[in-house]
Amino acid sequence: MKHVARKRFGQNFLHDQHVLGSITDAIDPAPGDAMVEIGPGLAAMTDQLLRTLTHMHVVELDRDLVARLEKAYPRNKLTVHSGDALKFDFSTIPVPAGQKLRIVGNLPYNISSPLLFHLASFAPLVQDQHFMLQKEVVERMVAEPGSKVYGRLSVMLQWRYDMSLLFVVPPEAFDPPPRVDSAIVRMIPVANPLPCDGPTLEAVVQKAFSQRRKVIRNCLAGMFTEEQIVAAGINPTDRPEAVGLAQYVALANLLKP
Ligand code: SAH
Repeated sequence: MKHVARKRFGQNFLHDQHVLGSITDAIDPAPGDAMVEIGPGLAAMTDQLLRTLTHMHVVELDRDLVARLEKAYPRNKLTVHSGDALKFDFSTIPVPAGQKLRIVGNLPYNISSPLLFHLASFAPLVQDQHFMLQKEVVERMVAEPGSKVYGRLSVMLQWRYDMSLLFVVPPEAFDPPPRVDSAIVRMIPVANPLPCDGPTLEAVVQKAFSQRRKVIRNCLAGMFTEEQIVAAGINPTDRPEAVGLAQYVALANLLKP
């Protein structure tokens, strides 16, 4: 029976074979990899990956799709975790000694930011992540200081990952087509993130970017004095989008050393 795409689950199924091939090439799976896919849907990517992998894990929220997947694949090839990826404990996936998790997915765009933040807490267990996301979101993730789209997502994720936009995918590659362009992002956890308390950095960055047209001194008024801002290596009359990751980390460390 044909599966009818559910909007509330952010379902846009990839059907372009060329795009599927390009994503698989970018992921470059090896047989023994500990791979987990978020939102496998009708298994377009899963199928490709299982041509090489001996086994993989998937996390899927839609129970109809879970039932299909369990029927279509033997358990020794595919382990299906039925549930919400936002709540899934990725540390429960068994990983052979000396290996780390590889996470992939054509993500539901409606939950992409919270999912990226949820995954960040597992970064030390992860080798790499390859995701299809809304192109605008990927552009924000990889943006450098000075860019119009540099903001909270850029700082918080660049603190933990090296990231690159690999290629853009047009709406026609999906059924049904989304209203926006998509892009594939590669995320590799940095080995030694600048030492800093995550929630404090998050609080600083959120306050800094809450009024991005103001100068940083005014954005951070009440949290930091001008002297502290200067001590963090920041020009107080710069806009928040001109301030780099290391400076935001320096600010956070002033609040919570
Ligand atoms: N990977 C497939 C499907 C992409 S559509 C493809 O490329 O064709 C997004 C998928 O994520 C759907 O299967 C949807 O049911 C699933 N999904 C949506 N929200 C989810 C969540 N919170 N946790 C896990 N899966 C979710």
